[in-house]
Amino acid sequence: MTYKYIQVPEAGEKIAFENGKLAVPDCPIIPFIEGDGIGPDVWRAARRVIDAAVHKAYAGKRSIAWTEVYAGQKSFDRFANWLPEETLEALKEFTVGIKGPLATPVGGGIRSLNVALRTTLDLFACVRPVRWFKGLPSPVCKPEDVNMVVFRENTEDLYAGIEFESGAPDNRRFLDLLRQEFPAQYAKIRFPDTTGIGIKPVSRQGSQRLVRAAIQWSLDNHRSSVTLVHKGNIMKFTEGAFRSWGYDLAEQEFGERVYTRRQWEATRKEHGEVAANQEEQDAAQAGRLLVKDIIADIAFEATITRAAEFDVLATMNLNGDYLSDALAAQVGGVGIAPGGNINYDTGAAVFEATHGTAPPFANLDKANPSSLILSGELLLRHLGWNEAAGLIVHGLEDTIAARTVTFDLHRLMENATLLGTTAFGDAVIRHMD
Ligand code: NAD
Repeated sequence: MTYKYIQVPEAGEKIAFENGKLAVPDCPIIPFIEGDGIGPDVWRAARRVIDAAVHKAYAGKRSIAWTEVYAGQKSFDRFANWLPEETLEALKEFTVGIKGPLATPVGGGIRSLNVALRTTLDLFACVRPVRWFKGLPSPVCKPEDVNMVVFRENTEDLYAGIEFESGAPDNRRFLDLLRQEFPAQYAKIRFPDTTGIGIKPVSRQGSQRLVRAAIQWSLDNHRSSVTLVHKGNIMKFTEGAFRSWGYDLAEQEFGERVYTRRQWEATRKEHGEVAANQEEQDAAQAGRLLVKDIIADIAFEATITRAAEFDVLATMNLNGDYLSDALAAQVGGVGIAPGGNINYDTGAAVFEATHGTAPPFANLDKANPSSLILSGELLLRHLGWNEAAGLIVHGLEDTIAARTVTFDLHRLMENATLLGTTAFGDAVIRHMD
């Protein structure tokens, strides 16, 4: 493919996907989107940290051929296009990429660049690990219990963007159709003349590929449970179906490797008098992964008050969006929480900072680059470069333990040393030793 704006480095090679696995050359071409606002600041630091970790882990035998691709404000200013087609082409061609935060244009332009990237590339799982680093300020008593990974469905649900604005002609036509064809449902709309409509499509395929990815990842990484999060008591055919399809998939595809709470409940009478978390003990004793479920609202309470009971969480799109930020708040906020958008069937992935562009702090060399640094760690693990990924975690752990942090954490800590974005990145590199 020839590109107009993108300069592909001659030194690198393409990542391929063969027999269900990534085939990664020693110098893979990896596209990056710098991002808007604080994006350039945090990307500069993160790139240096990732490069240093790769260099150190493989003594120069491996490296990354970074290639800039464009999206967001920078792209609009240069090419009058928020998301050029060739950016999507490059992310497809080179399989794995990374991005800083992107400004979503207000009152026009594209609806959301992030949603466009995820849906166009069919990156169906948004993976957000949430863990605590010793020394980080936290609003909870036992932050050390927080070690969860959220697998959020990325392509369906209310995020599909099927909406009819109140008063618009399409809204009228849609409501007329509903009135004629589904009068009982129409009668449930309290104020039809002033009602905006949003549609929530949730499919078996979409739900099951997400739950499959969460279970497979949990088995590969020796985790103890997957919790399906849903509001199925109210939304039976979408959220309730997500739960049922999840359990069906777990039992049919993973058989003896998992133990579902649904199986356990079905034989509850045989268990007699049991402890509250008996199924967890039974699953652990049998060496199986426990698959359980929880209603979404209580998930917000339970993941705070009983964090140790949660390990991997499989969620639908909207619930996952809320829950992953709420969990991140327990361990230092979005400035430190990483994310990856992954299609496990093709290997395609875009890793990203989970925070936004934080405009007040742009170009000040102040922002916390940890979210993007840890997204780099996820990227390296996706490539199978675990040694380099481990060095990043080690570097970050020791930097935070030494109480050297950026302003967002500094203001919450006592006796800490304040570092700028670049200096923080340097400290992480130094602590890799
Ligand atoms: P934001 O995350 O940019 O900022 C909220 C606040 O969080 C900031 O004012 C700052 O106090 C803090 N913060 C965020 N990242 C930080 C970091 N790395 N270091 C230190 N502090 C940090 O959210 P917002 O203000 O709601 O959104 C601003 C813009 O970002 C909007 O255009 C929005 O659409 C976009 N956005 C993009 C993404 C993305 O690209 N993934 C995500 C969220 C918001």
